[in-house]
Amino acid sequence: MHPELERRLPFLRRAAQVEPLGLYLHIPFCLDRCTYCSFATTRDRSLQPETMERLISETTEWGAALGRPAVDTLYLGGGTPSLLMREELAGLTEALRKAFDLSPLVEATLEANPGTVDLAWLQQARQLGWDRISLGVQALDDTLLARLGRIHGSVQAMEALELAEQAGFQRRSADLMVGIPGQSLSKVMADARTLAGTGIEHLSIYLLDLDKACPLRADIDAGRLTLPGEDEVADVFEALQEELPRLGLAPYEISNYGCPDAESIHNTRYWERRPYLGLGPSAASQLGDFRWTETGIIAAWAEGRGVLDLQELDAAEVLAETPLLGLRLHRGIDWQMLRQRAEALNLSPLCDAWESRLRGLAKEGLTVWEGDRVRLSARGMLMSNGILQLFV
Ligand code: SF4
Repeated sequence: MHPELERRLPFLRRAAQVEPLGLYLHIPFCLDRCTYCSFATTRDRSLQPETMERLISETTEWGAALGRPAVDTLYLGGGTPSLLMREELAGLTEALRKAFDLSPLVEATLEANPGTVDLAWLQQARQLGWDRISLGVQALDDTLLARLGRIHGSVQAMEALELAEQAGFQRRSADLMVGIPGQSLSKVMADARTLAGTGIEHLSIYLLDLDKACPLRADIDAGRLTLPGEDEVADVFEALQEELPRLGLAPYEISNYGCPDAESIHNTRYWERRPYLGLGPSAASQLGDFRWTETGIIAAWAEGRGVLDLQELDAAEVLAETPLLGLRLHRGIDWQMLRQRAEALNLSPLCDAWESRLRGLAKEGLTVWEGDRVRLSARGMLMSNGILQLFV
């Protein structure tokens, strides 16, 4: 554990006992690097044994340091968790059970790349207690998938969804990407319909987000590929907002759609600002007023030399996070409760300024006030980036 975190341990320990935590574990390995990716991942699998060893020792250390706190959601993300060997997944799951109190566990999600799963692996994951799977489908068009540098084609993606069902995953989610060069509105809608037709309970829609350094950005900068225009992308999001509920997938967050009661409980905790601990290179944590990430290259993290990025939020920053994150949810937030918290913190003027701005946006049809609650309208969701700047 980083000495800076060790110094704050009494506070972190107290914060971890208030309510069950969410636990995120980052598996930083991929078979190949997608052309748009800016996540902390590597193709160098020679680092895998050492990294998994460190992840297990971190799990044990943090569980003991925080007093074996209760955990109600687990999320194994990456990277490509489905690249873990069966013994590695079993060893990590066992370490989690020993280090944390998993008795209140309500959801255990693992991310998987459709190009890396087989029935036996999925069945083992299911037997180990992982009950929800999130598959990075991204598109069902082989040309677009190749453009993104994905290691799988559309047939493999559909097979992976089928295999997950056969393995007993009743809770299946897929990611679909919007804004890929060459992707038309009709193509996105066809893919969304096909995915909904598989009976998945959850769909995440992401806008292609390009880091400066990625190969796809270089192709765009050199004029070899063109990104769809902003209006075109907005049309896609609008069309999805209308069509997906008809297919049984209702929006509950800006980028997420689900069947009734199928929200991602783990991800919802981020928007509700509930506590979470992240383990692994570049995983983020938030306990009480502290937020931190251990950054740096993967080999350095595996050797315990990650660089700590630690922030202690002040009262106004903590207060601002409730609307900043909560307005991403379609149910919005309880403004009366926020006002009471602001009063207790002597921050009423700040809260009043936000309220007056949000009430002004209601006149433009971007926010909706219902009694004590406020939420973004469908059009407000499309313009959320600008609106949420209010709280930054
Ligand atoms: S599979 Fe995911 S994490 Fe891995 S390179 Fe592709 S986008 Fe990045």
